[in-house]
Amino acid sequence: MSSSTNKDLESVVLCHSCDVVVSKRALPVNVRALCPRCHTALYHAPFCTVNGLLALCISALILLIPANYFPILELHFLGSIRTSTVFEGAYAVLSQGFFVVGIAVILAAIVAPLLFVLSILTQTLIIKFAIDNRLARITFRFLLKKHNLIKQFSMPEIYIISLLVTSFNLGDFADVYFGIGTFCYTMLFITMIFMQREYDIEHMWSHLHD
Ligand SMILES: [Zn+2]
Repeated sequence: MSSSTNKDLESVVLCHSCDVVVSKRALPVNVRALCPRCHTALYHAPFCTVNGLLALCISALILLIPANYFPILELHFLGSIRTSTVFEGAYAVLSQGFFVVGIAVILAAIVAPLLFVLSILTQTLIIKFAIDNRLARITFRFLLKKHNLIKQFSMPEIYIISLLVTSFNLGDFADVYFGIGTFCYTMLFITMIFMQREYDIEHMWSHLHD
């Protein structure tokens, strides 16, 4: 295919809902392009600059440390106090023989969020410092291809919901206190929501083609 045909194809976009072909235009920040026929959102300009995404990545990385190091739950029961971190919770489940659940917790609550943040941080750094060598291109392409997989495994929200359900259930016969870990973990969750909102994979692919 000639390069002019390639350029023509890149400048049009197909509506996901009604298949109408729309020519792409540059958009101001915070504006979404809608399909003229069915009003489905087609594309938008990235909300955040590279620096904004970088700031979110660094915040998430900083929050990851206390979120996993400090206790997320403190139980006061018959005079005894028990605290637990995310990893200790997963380890307790593992040691009781629930291997699949334990591994799922470690993967969804610790490993995948870390990989998710590191992946976006690496991509953002490559763009920010315009690193253009073979290794950077291979890494960038690999991370973009694996992005959806990492995103699917990263589920801090499920962890927070199950934590709240558990603490409400335990509240009937023990005093439950949330630790500093809960606060950091919730902040990490909120930061990751913003990262997902700002991150646009199609925009990242266009950096690779540039
Ligand atoms: Zn449409």
